[in-house]
Amino acid sequence: MYDVIIIGGGPAGLNAAMLLGRSRRKVIVMDSGKPRNRWAERMNGFLTSDGMNPREFIQKGRAELDKYGVELVDVVVKSATYTKGEFVVNDSNGKVYRSRKLLLATGLKDTLPELEGVEEMYGKSVHHCPYCDGWESRDKAIAVYGGPVHHGVGQALAMKNWSADVTLYTDAIDGLRREDIELLERNEVKIEQEKIARLEGENGMLRHIVLANGEKRPQQALFFSLGTEQQSDLGEQLGCEFTSDGVIRTKKLQHSNIPGLFVAGDAARDMQMVVVAAAEGAKAGVAINMELQQEDRK
Ligand SMILES: Cc1cc2nc3c(=O)[nH]c(=O)nc-3n(C[C@H](O)[C@H](O)[C@H](O)COP(=O)(O)OP(=O)(O)OC[C@H]3O[C@@H](n4cnc5c(N)ncnc54)[C@H](O)[C@@H]3O)c2cc1C
Repeated sequence: MYDVIIIGGGPAGLNAAMLLGRSRRKVIVMDSGKPRNRWAERMNGFLTSDGMNPREFIQKGRAELDKYGVELVDVVVKSATYTKGEFVVNDSNGKVYRSRKLLLATGLKDTLPELEGVEEMYGKSVHHCPYCDGWESRDKAIAVYGGPVHHGVGQALAMKNWSADVTLYTDAIDGLRREDIELLERNEVKIEQEKIARLEGENGMLRHIVLANGEKRPQQALFFSLGTEQQSDLGEQLGCEFTSDGVIRTKKLQHSNIPGLFVAGDAARDMQMVVVAAAEGAKAGVAINMELQQEDRK
């Protein structure tokens, strides 16, 4: 019987494990090795670790847990249930684990544009988050890929913060509204409504967007925002409440609507960045320990 099972060994899960390990709790972290930013070479915006390779960040985090006796297992969790104050977790090898508290830190996955060439460029010159990668794209020829919702108008306007040269590509999905076109023109955002054939580049770096009519547009970075989904269905299995954005609704200190179940990081409701995920993990770690203290007090 563990005090706490943590599912997900990204920044949220590992930081929670650190606080709980330091609180002398019996903790296990179960992780399937797919952190959201595994596509990227650099992790930006985390004070003292700005620009660090995300894989190195995870390795360093795991190594730091060693001295606190935290168990780490590389495994996919298939199911989790809660009955009468006990969580029962099953991994994909059929092994069963039990705990008093459960932390879900299973993260999100991104919906990528369906464009030829996008996968090898994702995390290098194709990005979704300007706060993570806008600086590295500053003053470049930035393309914004519009999706069916709002056509990327807001993101195209936002990218003017980082470059004067911004073009919104609608990929021929519906038509832009007259007022959107006027707004973009007033803010000197270029508009391309032709269908995209493919992205062209080398070593993951975008060089051109090739249109269906054969024309090639020089572009050095592409930003998109097509939404996310939960990386695991464990929140649903456990009966968590979700927001309309598809993240798990959490209360103060990362409590969910299920007693003893906490959620931290991208899977939970808040801004999605490494430093925020790690901070939420720390908050959850302290809150879980406080609940255990209360329960054990004679
Ligand atoms: C391309 C890209 C670049 C990014 N760049 C930056 C950046 O520069 N700076 C920044 O602050 N943020 C960046 N982000 C965002 C950042 O990746 C996330 O905010 C952060 O990883 C969230 O941490 P997390 O611990 O919540 O989830 P994750 O890091 O996604 O970790 C979740 C973990 O849970 C595991 N897991 C999921 N389901 C299961 C299961 N069923 N069983 C076992 N394990 C499971 C996964 O394998 C994974 O290891 C970037 C994201 C992307 C996609």
